[in-house]
Amino acid sequence: MMQLKSYWLDTSPAFVSQTQTLPEGACDVVVVGGGITGSAAALALARKGARVVVCEADIVGGAASGRNGGMCNNGFAQDYATLSQRLGVEWANRLYRAFDAGVDTVERLVREESIDCSFARHGKLKLAAKPEHVDKLARSQELLARHVDGDTRLLSRAQLRDELGSDRYHGGLLMHKSAGMHVGRYVRGLAQAAQRRGALYLERTPVLGIEAKNGRYAVRTSAGVLHAGQVLLASGISQVGPFGWIRRRIVPVGAFLIVTEPLPGALLKQLLPTQRMYTDTKNFVNYFRATPDQRLLFGGRARFAASNPQSDARSGEILRAQMLEVFPALAQTRIDYCWGGMVDMTTDRLPRAGQRDGLYYSMGYSGHGTHMATLMGSMMAEIMDGHAELNPWKDFDWPAIPGHFGKPWFLPFVGAWYRLKDRLQ
Ligand SMILES: Cc1cc2nc3c(=O)[nH]c(=O)nc-3n(C[C@H](O)[C@H](O)[C@H](O)COP(=O)(O)OP(=O)(O)OC[C@H]3O[C@@H](n4cnc5c(N)ncnc54)[C@H](O)[C@@H]3O)c2cc1C
Repeated sequence: MMQLKSYWLDTSPAFVSQTQTLPEGACDVVVVGGGITGSAAALALARKGARVVVCEADIVGGAASGRNGGMCNNGFAQDYATLSQRLGVEWANRLYRAFDAGVDTVERLVREESIDCSFARHGKLKLAAKPEHVDKLARSQELLARHVDGDTRLLSRAQLRDELGSDRYHGGLLMHKSAGMHVGRYVRGLAQAAQRRGALYLERTPVLGIEAKNGRYAVRTSAGVLHAGQVLLASGISQVGPFGWIRRRIVPVGAFLIVTEPLPGALLKQLLPTQRMYTDTKNFVNYFRATPDQRLLFGGRARFAASNPQSDARSGEILRAQMLEVFPALAQTRIDYCWGGMVDMTTDRLPRAGQRDGLYYSMGYSGHGTHMATLMGSMMAEIMDGHAELNPWKDFDWPAIPGHFGKPWFLPFVGAWYRLKDRLQ
């Protein structure tokens, strides 16, 4: 029977916290949130010898970090041509390389901390959903190859036959640096590594308030008050705690996934002969990949809605129909898992990190968080150690979104607009 839960969390060993009580005395850093950002930061801070406490409102990796597609796709969430026009080629290239560095950082930490998560550089294939989209991919590839990424290739419809057992698409942009992994094993392995290096994890311990006094912080949690010299907000779209400032700047957008039963080897080889990370060019994007145990994961926006069990199940039906448009051969295949999560979107789909009122923060990875959260979590340890100049996002302002107070009431309208664009473009 189909289970309404994350396949990744269901098939990875649980994180076991060594404590459930607040430590005695002050600590150096409180990290709010035990997702990828929080655990990458906790690991880097603990490696530097800092006394770190991670407060997680739910369980480690229970939010976006354990519910995503497990793709480490290099490149921007938006088109390179658009961003390089807006920022200039040099600045855009610096940011582009930061996304590359994100994938490199995941690879390095997996190796250094022996995290068993099937990380591999499968490459990403962006698929043209309409014939007209091929030109846009060709232009992107030409600019990328000229300015910043020689590891890309444009594939014609005929060449796609070696890559994919579907004739749904019209061409593709192949990006060799991208990778895939079992993200449940990754986020829990990262936390385990941070704990091994001395970070304390308090699960089911939401942070409810933060007060600054004489350059130090009293962090009020459901289990008592922690005293710290620094605080890092690694809280993603956080629905709990005193983070109204963030909620006015991040739009939580529902995204959904289904995972099939394990497929016979020959069928998987026919559908995904090269086992890439696949995404398409629609605004209502679809993406898919093989899991390490030979299932097909198929995801997408499905509809602009929040994630909850009822909503996830409805979205799962839409995704199954979309999957069958791409792979009719799966008509009799069972769906074993269906779940959803909230993506941490910013309006320009670029992350934000820095310091406000003394508190450090990093978030807003806009669907590129598996690797950017890893990079930024690690980098926050350096930034908090006095190296603000390393922050790739230091020159970006972050105004509140007019009319947005945390609950994105406007998403159905945005959804209708994107649906129309998909029909017209
Ligand atoms: C369905 C889906 C698919 C995605 N697919 C991909 C993909 O394939 N590739 C990719 O790169 N990115 C993808 N993303 C995005 C990526 O998962 C996120 O950007 C990334 O996981 C963010 O990590 P994080 O640690 O910053 O936030 P989170 O994982 O959201 O962690 C934040 C944590 O903070 C905790 N928290 C919040 N408030 C408090 C509080 N007051 N006190 C204590 N704890 C608190 C939360 O419980 C949560 O565990 C996807 C996201 C979703 C939802």
